[in-house]
Amino acid sequence: MPNAGPLRDTHGRAHRDLRISLTDRCSLRCTYCMPEQGVEWLAKTSILSTDEIVRVAQIAADAGITTFRLTGGEPLLRRDIVDVVRRISRIESAGAPVQVAMTTNGIVLADKLDELIDAGLTRLNISIDTLRRDRFAALTRRDRLDDVLRGIAAAAASDLRPLKLNTVAMRGVNDDEMVDLVQFSVDHGAELRFIEQMPLDSGHTWDRSAMVTRDEILAALSQRWDLEPVPGRGGAPAERWRLDGGPSTVGVIASVTAPFCGACDRLRLTADGQLRNCLFSTHEFDLLPSLRDGSPDAVLEDVLRRCIWAKLPGHAINDPSFLQPDRGMNAIGG
Ligand code: SAM
Ligand code: SF4
Repeated sequence: MPNAGPLRDTHGRAHRDLRISLTDRCSLRCTYCMPEQGVEWLAKTSILSTDEIVRVAQIAADAGITTFRLTGGEPLLRRDIVDVVRRISRIESAGAPVQVAMTTNGIVLADKLDELIDAGLTRLNISIDTLRRDRFAALTRRDRLDDVLRGIAAAAASDLRPLKLNTVAMRGVNDDEMVDLVQFSVDHGAELRFIEQMPLDSGHTWDRSAMVTRDEILAALSQRWDLEPVPGRGGAPAERWRLDGGPSTVGVIASVTAPFCGACDRLRLTADGQLRNCLFSTHEFDLLPSLRDGSPDAVLEDVLRRCIWAKLPGHAINDPSFLQPDRGMNAIGG
């Protein structure tokens, strides 16, 4: 394993994107992510402090990571979220400022957005699966659609671009709203990205037949728009299409039916200090002891490089031997 140079795995993929889960807690209980009663939360003592997160981010940036995505759980539940954004946004990678992105459910976004932008947030993804209040309440088990809509309106009124909205399409739940959700995004100057539902819910209730596939999504949208592929996807998870020639676009993240592992440049840090080289990993690399026993940066960098070096060529969702990871999406960081 090389102990310097780009963060490459044994398949030649260089890693540039670190997703940091700031908490496993959340203000919603989306059916595809968490059970209604919540889950056994991570022990408070194991949650990384801001200093610990910033230290890992600095080591990662020095080794070649250029983008940090803050997620969770719900990242805006973290009380020091503005400080986390400010401190990470000051980090440089190869002499250039890093990108600081966030994925949020949008519930308290309207009140925090100005501070986040001021602190250096550069990109934002907001999740919204339905525009109907009763459905939202059933799907997330909380009656908070209006708060999310306020968050999206605030983001649309800001200068943050590209702005992205995330939707998990589910059969018989929201699949009749796909065109409406794309139109809603277009009206807000945002790109909607459909995510195929993945077997990552803490309740282990994933059912392949309930998942709406990439092809079904495209068929539904083609009834309304002419879809023209956007070239140059690179390592991005979403395939993208121009709507009626553009400029508006839509994306699909087809992790299940059209995996894109060959170009993956991402790794993840959980709120309790575990490095994961894949959403679907069943093995984690523990940074916590080295973070708390006075180890020098070189030891932490070695854990980072070993984690990436051990990355498999792809996930095995479609293999009969697939084992769902113990952690749910809320504790992995989507
Ligand atoms: N709470 C924030 C949110 O919902 O945007 C950030 C964390 S959430 C885990 C990140 C993204 O993962 C969301 O867009 C959510 O819809 C998506 N997600 C969660 N569980 C999923 C699953 N089982 N399959 C596909 N996407 C999922
Ligand atoms: Fe919370 Fe996001 Fe999971 Fe929904 S998807 S329960 S908002 S962490």
